[in-house]
Amino acid sequence: MNSEKLMNLSEHLTSSSVASLGHSSELDGSRLSPHFTLAELTKTKQHIENVPNEAQVENLKRVCRWLEQLRLRYNQMRNEVREYPIIINSGFRSPEVNKAVGGVPSSNHLTGCAVDIRCIGMEQALRYAAILLDISDMSREDFDELLIEQKRSVVWIHFAVRPWGNRRRCNFKR
Ligand SMILES: [Zn+2]
Repeated sequence: MNSEKLMNLSEHLTSSSVASLGHSSELDGSRLSPHFTLAELTKTKQHIENVPNEAQVENLKRVCRWLEQLRLRYNQMRNEVREYPIIINSGFRSPEVNKAVGGVPSSNHLTGCAVDIRCIGMEQALRYAAILLDISDMSREDFDELLIEQKRSVVWIHFAVRPWGNRRRCNFKR
């Protein structure tokens, strides 16, 4: 990347980078935020009912505000014509679903506060993690967990935000 392109990119980033994690309005019922649907955040391979209550949906919306910022910043950084989506492997889990997938009983997934973000390898995971930390610093909002997890060659980020009592736990988990 030449220096002119770098300059443009950094201008582009600063002009829109006061991280706003504010509410977005005018969403229809199936959407949690402009780019994330309730279906994406509640999907499960288990054939078990997985329906969040109102408070759990509010928690999912809070996480989606971070995901929108992540999506925006990741795409600004790539600076390409195509837009890359942020893909969620797992969001809300009912107690039955959580048990079936071997989740811990205290999991943030049970309250709709956690998502597992799919990553194409460790480089993308580190990039996502760096962006999420930037969002936290700029918005002065804390998150509860930012864990880079790996099982064999599969990498994902477990990211959680609670309504209160966020512990800002960062770690690798294998
Ligand atoms: Zn998780």
